[in-house]
Amino acid sequence: MVAGRVNAPPNAPFVPPGTGWPGDPAGPDTPVAHAPDEVVELAATAPGLAGLCARQSVCRACSRLVEWREQVAVERRRAFADQEYWGRPIAGWGAADPGVLIVGLAPAAHGGNRTGRVFTGDRSGDWLFAALHRAGLAALPTSEHAGDGQRLFGARLVAVVRCAPPDNKPTPAERAACLPWLAREVAEVAATVRVVVVLGGYAWQGIWPALKQAGYELPRPRPPFGHGVEVLLAPPPGTAPEPVLLLGCYHPSQQNTFTGRVTADMLEAVFVRAREYAR
Ligand code: SF4
Repeated sequence: MVAGRVNAPPNAPFVPPGTGWPGDPAGPDTPVAHAPDEVVELAATAPGLAGLCARQSVCRACSRLVEWREQVAVERRRAFADQEYWGRPIAGWGAADPGVLIVGLAPAAHGGNRTGRVFTGDRSGDWLFAALHRAGLAALPTSEHAGDGQRLFGARLVAVVRCAPPDNKPTPAERAACLPWLAREVAEVAATVRVVVVLGGYAWQGIWPALKQAGYELPRPRPPFGHGVEVLLAPPPGTAPEPVLLLGCYHPSQQNTFTGRVTADMLEAVFVRAREYAR
């Protein structure tokens, strides 16, 4: 199945914004952040959630990550050699008014960085979307490419870091640079979010400062990450009267799924819990 476009330019480093990629949130005039201070400014002034996601998707603030994501898009994995790679940051995706916000760490080099959609086109995404579908939060049990018809029901997916990092390891500076995008997105959906599901310990570390910036009242000390760990948070003033549930979940990485550290049933149980709390 073709993931990108036919007649696409061969081995381009990225898809130019507004050129027809399914779900591309940006256009040719979307402002581009070239440095961390510009991320701060463009995240703060973005015109709503759609405008925020457009700006996220063209960001070039982290030179190491820009170089890596575009190098991967040019070199490509052999299995995807005939596919155009997205090669840009992966914006938040899903419902604009979600009850469940799902937080991962960063896109995969040949997954989101290829398909342009978070957790799409890689093995982790296969596990995640199968569980979301069984829990009634996703239309399809698979997530293969940006034009596949997949939809989330009452849920939204975001990553702490929006560009694929080498070895799946963003640096602390890169996480800090990307934080304004995440914090603004968390604030944009705070009026409806009742549950935040966090996939893995790195995302657990990354979401706390974003929640704080978005106005959530956080417990001290910070509870440690674990699968099934639940923390109740006071939401930002003026959003919801009820506490918001922060829910830890092992990341569906191949390391975790191969070893049985996380199973399909465990993932499904987390998302059923999230769906029921959100209702
Ligand atoms: S990681 Fe975030 S801040 Fe850095 S270039 Fe990508 S989108 Fe921009």
